Amino acid sequence: MTDSKHIPAKLRELVAVRANFVCEYCQSQEDFSAESFAVEHIFPRFLDGKTVAENLAYSCLGCNSHKATRIAAIDPVGGTTAAFFNPRLQNWNEHFSWNSNFTEIIGLTPTGRATVEALKLNRKGVRNLRWALFAVGKHPPQI
Ligand SMILES: [Zn+2]
Repeated sequence: MTDSKHIPAKLRELVAVRANFVCEYCQSQEDFSAESFAVEHIFPRFLDGKTVAENLAYSCLGCNSHKATRIAAIDPVGGTTAAFFNPRLQNWNEHFSWNSNFTEIIGLTPTGRATVEALKLNRKGVRNLRWALFAVGKHPPQI
């Protein structure tokens, strides 16, 4: 496997299909996004993260850019550093849930809360889109 910046097309497709074309952090759906999604390194290349399926996640551009080269952040409740959610090793529903109208993601654990805060999973534009998609039965994604 290569460790270069380039992600081979087959690997990119594997990651996208595995995620059902949904951002593995904020659950945005690529079908309802103005931008193509990115294949991101969970453990960043900057820290010697490898370009292999086990270290890649499908991510919208907002989550990808807020995450950048970080792997952890402060849990706003506990005040301690917590590793970000790892979609390869962890289950989304164990770390996050939706509020009652499915517009906001609630972090359930230190990892969940640190990820919500640092990746800004409840960005205004994303909240607005969730609201509109929920109204037409297209949110949350069924995965
Ligand atoms: Zn996202």
